[in-house]
Amino acid sequence: MIELSDAQAFVHSRISVLEPEEYAVARAPGCVIAATVRAQEAVPGFANSSMDGFALRARDTVEGGVRLRVVDSVRAGEVSSVVVGAGQAVRIMTGAALPEGADCVCMIEEATVEGSDVVIARTLTPGAYVRGVGEDTEVGQVLFSPGDVLSAAGVGVLAGQGVTSVAVHPRARVGVLSTGHELVTGAGPLGPGQIRDLNRPMLLALVREAGFVAVDLDVADDTPEDITRALRGAITACDAVITTGGVSVGDVDFVKTVLAELGGEDARWMQVAIKPAKPFAFAVVGPRRVPVFGLPGNPVSTRVSFELFVRPALRARAGHRVLERPTLDAILDVALERPADDKIHLVHVRVAWGDDGALHVTDAMRRGSHLLHAVAAANALAVVPTGARAHAGERVRVIVLDTDSLGVAP
Ligand code: AMP
Ligand code: MG
Repeated sequence: MIELSDAQAFVHSRISVLEPEEYAVARAPGCVIAATVRAQEAVPGFANSSMDGFALRARDTVEGGVRLRVVDSVRAGEVSSVVVGAGQAVRIMTGAALPEGADCVCMIEEATVEGSDVVIARTLTPGAYVRGVGEDTEVGQVLFSPGDVLSAAGVGVLAGQGVTSVAVHPRARVGVLSTGHELVTGAGPLGPGQIRDLNRPMLLALVREAGFVAVDLDVADDTPEDITRALRGAITACDAVITTGGVSVGDVDFVKTVLAELGGEDARWMQVAIKPAKPFAFAVVGPRRVPVFGLPGNPVSTRVSFELFVRPALRARAGHRVLERPTLDAILDVALERPADDKIHLVHVRVAWGDDGALHVTDAMRRGSHLLHAVAAANALAVVPTGARAHAGERVRVIVLDTDSLGVAP
């Protein structure tokens, strides 16, 4: 058996980052930026009002109030043609350019309109309620550096520069292939001994959920020829490939042998010291060095194996620096019994905030690598280390699978 951390390190050491591509900005959120982006335009590009009110000269204001003549009105998108002189003001809307001569704005709530005059009750300092040129962004300023993940706000920043495309590490295209003579696709009738292929739809969903492009590679039969044919096609069309089934010690577990052939030096079949998901095969194949992950066929094992090996590797391939899910300490409200074997146990659990402000494991799902329904409602994976007791009241590390489910901390 190989330790989990060693198995993960083997995979990680062989993952190469995808070459940058130019993406339309609208397609790029969630992608990792590959080249420095500098501002070409100042934002704001001109001094403008941050309030609806009156543009005026700060030095005209006095304690006790001053009466000014309103000489123009300017809305966002317009530029006033007047120059504001002594004793004058211009009615101004939020976002409108500050008229020449004016150096501040008095908000409407602090002004009293009297016919064609306005009374400004307070003193103001130059720059009050004015958004200055380049206050947010100056020309030449670094907006994004390689390694930054483009957020929705980042999309806004690029749009604010008139930038329409950006160099990013592409969203990996991830192929998913099921293997197994017993598998039936979709809703078709089940013959004797047949089961439905549920790993492939689950993995396709996991790939999409992780932000990658899922490519359905269908089902291969349990023959070296069928598996080889499917994988040869996949490594030209995809940036990574996931297979399920055929990596254990059964007579027809040919995925591991095919991967060993295709991957050569970079292939390895492992018996990882974890439960579930012990068997795992990995290879890097072809000139594009496409990683192929051979996951076990039992659905809960498939899911756990995806979390531990595939998801972090896909993120690395896409250039991410943070590879892991949020992983936190939680207090056990329920005991996580485990036999005294040499494995790290990964237990699907429910976690929730407690009134004490800490995260708690409130429930543990029924265990068994074939019991997928039992774990479908879990929102975290508890990592129970070798030799740990994991009694109620103790702390355990949890990999949070669904951060949205946590909600507001007390
Ligand atoms: P294997 O790893 O191929 O020995 O498969 C282990 C167990 O998982 C067997 O009971 C298979 O029938 C089952 N299995 C394999 N692939 C799938 C799949 N795609 N969907 C559901 N169960 C599967
Ligand atoms: Mg099989």
